[in-house]
Amino acid sequence: MPLFQKILVANRGEIAVRIIRGCRELGIATVAVHSEPDARSPHVLLADEAVLLGPAPSAESYLRIDRILEAAHATGAQAVHPGYGFLAERAPFAEAVEGAGLVFLGPTADTIRSMGDKTEARRRMQAARVPIVPGLVDPLADVDEAVAAAEELGYPVLLKASAGGGGKGMRVVDDPAELPRAFESAAREALAAFGDGSVYLERYLSRPRHIEIQVLGDTHGRVVHLAERECSIQRRHQKLVEEAPSAVLTPEERAAMGAAAVRAAEAVDYRGAGTVEFLYQDGEFFFLEMNTRLQVEHPVTELITGLDLVQWQIRVAAGEALPFTQDDVALNGHAIECRITSEDPFHGFLPSTGRIDHMEVPTGPGVRWDGGIEPGFDVGLHYDPLLGKLIVHADTREAAIDRMARALDELVIRGVDTCVPLHRRIMAHEAFRAGDLSIRFLEEYDALLEEGPASGVDATAAAVAAALLEHAHRSGRAAPRMGAGAATTALSGWRASGWPWNRPA
Ligand code: ADP
Repeated sequence: MPLFQKILVANRGEIAVRIIRGCRELGIATVAVHSEPDARSPHVLLADEAVLLGPAPSAESYLRIDRILEAAHATGAQAVHPGYGFLAERAPFAEAVEGAGLVFLGPTADTIRSMGDKTEARRRMQAARVPIVPGLVDPLADVDEAVAAAEELGYPVLLKASAGGGGKGMRVVDDPAELPRAFESAAREALAAFGDGSVYLERYLSRPRHIEIQVLGDTHGRVVHLAERECSIQRRHQKLVEEAPSAVLTPEERAAMGAAAVRAAEAVDYRGAGTVEFLYQDGEFFFLEMNTRLQVEHPVTELITGLDLVQWQIRVAAGEALPFTQDDVALNGHAIECRITSEDPFHGFLPSTGRIDHMEVPTGPGVRWDGGIEPGFDVGLHYDPLLGKLIVHADTREAAIDRMARALDELVIRGVDTCVPLHRRIMAHEAFRAGDLSIRFLEEYDALLEEGPASGVDATAAAVAAALLEHAHRSGRAAPRMGAGAATTALSGWRASGWPWNRPA
């Protein structure tokens, strides 16, 4: 069966680049869409064609369904890949794409809708015998109902927006006296963010791990799972480091969670790639939500399964049947991903803006960089702060951590603050190395987020760098280009934690 001739990628940044690469390998032409400031960004330069959608604000560009469909028609694209974020989980977009006679590279609008509402998803999961976090399956009518429900469930409880996403409209409540205010503010935030103020509540687990299962379904009724990803290292309930497999799951637990995820997918007639998220604590697991799209952290699954998820999304959307069964899915080695964001981890993850004036991306065995920036790129505040993802693969978890530490040492991004220094600390942290994780990792080890004065080693490094520059200058040679690698060599054991080596002296 022929695949598509041309696909429009309705996204930007690293994920648009990733999808374009997947298409190119399949011999499919690509159309990028972009906002005005993104006119020369990597995804635009990489695609075969590009269409301007509008000005910088997403509402006037990447969220303009009408413009995206016009672009698809004007270029003759046959299918649309939504990536993640933006329109990826908006049922009306999937409907509009299909209504225009194009193929939406994702599940049906009905599937998106049924998993998009957290309370409806919880009801469906309950019916499919998938364990859910204890709590309500219907939105709360008012504060009184919230008080009664919390009393019955026991504190702490978590208020959540039914339409939620991105941690919006979520409030942890420890103390009954705080509940009325938290209820009002969660509802207000949910209304502002999603146009739907309904909230419900569930038990707040004390020290869970976030473990999710990748699923893949075709249009012929087959759904398989591709094992788990652990995403416990988070800031403000948003993921920062992901790995596959998890350091804790036994093969039996993997099989049980995998089977539950497949039941979840089957309950909503899932097709394509999707993720069923669970909280895992003390050997028990509870359904959190299903993301009906490609996930940011999909590369770690690709590396341990050898399957290209973007290409499988395309293949199943074109009607191909999955040619393998659950028993054929074999896991190989260990993969870790660090999300590289333009945020300052030492100042509350404050977004940082500026022009990328220099970049050095690590290569070498087992290293993959999925990036959406290049030197000269302006990082603004209009979009997600994700600049790219550094991903490594090795035989064991320990070797993967060492490899990631090495790769992070070689990664240089100058012009904006990034969370790279934090990632270096996490890779070196004993609890991380021991696999003792929970979603509260960064709260429990909050010293990781303290900037700290320049350490003795940093001062030594600076002195050595100055001496090297001085030497080069005197001997009449051009100043050596000192990337992180040079610095590390010059100072064995020193970690170039974002030191601006290449800044003109
Ligand atoms: P969103 O869709 O807004 O991202 P999720 O339901 O996916 O919200 O939850 C995001 C994160 O919040 C989880 O990964 C976890 O860290 C935390 N979380 C969610 N529900 C609970 C809970 N019941 N107990 C403890 N932590 C939770």
